[in-house]
Amino acid sequence: MRIDLHTHSNRSDGTDTPAELVVNAALAGLDVVALTDHDATTGWDEARAAGEREGVVVVPGIEISTTFHGESVHLLGYAFDPAHPPLVEELERVLGGRDQRLPRILARLAEHGIDITEEDVALQSGAAAASGRPHIADAMVAKGYIGHRDEAFQGWLNSRGRAYVERYAAPLLGAVRLLKDAGGQAVVAHPWSRGSDRVLTADAFEELAALGLDGIEVDHVDHDDVARRGLRDVARALDLVVTGSSDYHGTGKSSAFHLGANLTDPGEYERLLG
Ligand code: AMP
Ligand code: ZN
Ligand code: FE
Ligand code: FE
Repeated sequence: MRIDLHTHSNRSDGTDTPAELVVNAALAGLDVVALTDHDATTGWDEARAAGEREGVVVVPGIEISTTFHGESVHLLGYAFDPAHPPLVEELERVLGGRDQRLPRILARLAEHGIDITEEDVALQSGAAAASGRPHIADAMVAKGYIGHRDEAFQGWLNSRGRAYVERYAAPLLGAVRLLKDAGGQAVVAHPWSRGSDRVLTADAFEELAALGLDGIEVDHVDHDDVARRGLRDVARALDLVVTGSSDYHGTGKSSAFHLGANLTDPGEYERLLG
């Protein structure tokens, strides 16, 4: 059983439609794929229908943008009620925060002679639930300012970049509760990448486990072997599920993030979603 529990379609910042993503999952030999778009569930129906055609089990999921002690933390949610009103409300705040931030980022880019309009960005975000930094990056590529999306995160849009502007993110502990209250499972995504390693200590995981956290995404390209061993120890001590996944974004991220790049053990999958 090949199981990949973290992927993005064009309903957030991936480049495949949800159906294309599932076709590609079948081609990659996956038996189970979770669609976990940033802060959005709008791809679920299309992905599930494609899963039935392709013989791939599609797990409906999400990756929520949260904040914990001032650091950005991504929280994966699975198989929850997407209509749970407090959750819907919180996701709307996060998505709205992205859209409100957009003109401010564009103004900063303009100060540096980079001329991108909201229409340019809308052309890139297309079917996405909101326009995020990757779509701004894509507009910079389309207008010839940079060669690839990743270059925008080297000095422009990354958290120390010249055009960076903060946006709303859901408080992490509240987001875990919202997913649990909506009947779902909560797993911290790539906890020891980009800054969140500073706040996601073993003690923090203990606090999260007490709130109902189900698992930790251990096998992810952002984690080296030392991080993976450390996180496995934390998971074992707290009896949390260990997951592995690709964080696939189509052509929006490098081939290191290909479907099936990291997998979840079938026994762990059964513990989480069985
Ligand atoms: P947003 O939440 O709209 O600010 O955009 C965040 C998304 O941008 C993340 O989910 C990643 O897909 C992408 N991203 C953030 N930081 C980087 C980075 N340093 N390099 C490449 N992509 C990044
Ligand atoms: Zn992303
Ligand atoms: Fe993430
Ligand atoms: Fe992701």
